[in-house]
Amino acid sequence: MNLQEMIVLSRRCWYQTGGDAKYFAEPKTLEELEELISWGETEGLPRFLLGHGSNVLFADEGFDGLVIHTKKLKAVREMEEGLLEAEAGAPLESLVDQANGLGWQGLESFPGIPGTIGGAVWGNAGACGEEIGNRVSQVQLMEAGGPGEWIDASSLCWSYRCSGIEDRVVAAVRLQLSPGSDPQQLKNRSCELKMQKTSTQPYSQRSCGCIFRNPVGASAGELIEKSGLKGVAVGGARISREHANFIVNEGGARSEDIEELIERVQRRVRDLFQVNLVREVIMPGQRGGSR
Ligand SMILES: Cc1cc2nc3c(=O)[nH]c(=O)nc-3n(C[C@H](O)[C@H](O)[C@H](O)COP(=O)(O)OP(=O)(O)OC[C@H]3O[C@@H](n4cnc5c(N)ncnc54)[C@H](O)[C@@H]3O)c2cc1C
Repeated sequence: MNLQEMIVLSRRCWYQTGGDAKYFAEPKTLEELEELISWGETEGLPRFLLGHGSNVLFADEGFDGLVIHTKKLKAVREMEEGLLEAEAGAPLESLVDQANGLGWQGLESFPGIPGTIGGAVWGNAGACGEEIGNRVSQVQLMEAGGPGEWIDASSLCWSYRCSGIEDRVVAAVRLQLSPGSDPQQLKNRSCELKMQKTSTQPYSQRSCGCIFRNPVGASAGELIEKSGLKGVAVGGARISREHANFIVNEGGARSEDIEELIERVQRRVRDLFQVNLVREVIMPGQRGGSR
């Protein structure tokens, strides 16, 4: 199973903050993934599935359980015309490139999301009014003691940044795309969207993307900007001057600096606009659950 102990999580997530995982593993096959799930359950350990860590803020105290990193589960197969099957750790960006290159329309709106397909599906990642859930036909969910069951995407409860998968494990995903487009047009569209993203967001800095969900009918970034908090810093963390819905680690930030900024923003926006900003970033608790 190749289980490791006391592994530094800050080296494995985009924010580069957070303490150690008590147990850590990088399965190379779906059989190893199943073994790990079973072992963790037998030991009664809290479990956290980690993709590229681009939407995670681990506690400075670490995670007192089993972290399963999916990055080595990245096999991708073209099943039939328009149908891609990818293991959970396949990078979303390479799937976008592959689909565009084949002229299979459907993923071109998702360039520049630095996660795995498993993380993207778990959180129903979205961009430019599109949501990844609309492209998923089936998801293979794995539990202890079994090879994983393929379920239809229509049986999940998709909503804004939510798939309803919750604490189940995504082993693989099938994406239904529309063949027959001009590859160059799809590539151009992705290129244009990525340029928009990199010119309006602090893309090269350590962040988790947008820290809050947009409230219904409003923009979280605009509310934060109007509250006067853009550019405010705590320790090594700052509310980005480029885009107020990003909190960046400028170097040496601790998770608690980022958490303090999150709470400060939530208080100020609630006081000024009576709006409760809901976090998009996932904050696993030291003992499982969420902070
Ligand atoms: C610069 C930047 C830009 C971004 N832009 C966007 C954007 O445009 N749109 C957007 O929606 N997001 C964006 N994000 C956020 C992030 O990239 C997405 O949420 C991404 O889908 C997370 O994927 P991940 O593999 O990194 O997941 P992680 O951050 O590792 O995990 C996120 C959640 O998914 C769960 N998870 C991961 N893999 C699995 C699995 N196999 N089974 C079960 N649960 C799993 C984790 O347990 C956790 O709860 C951005 C982030 C950054 C840093």
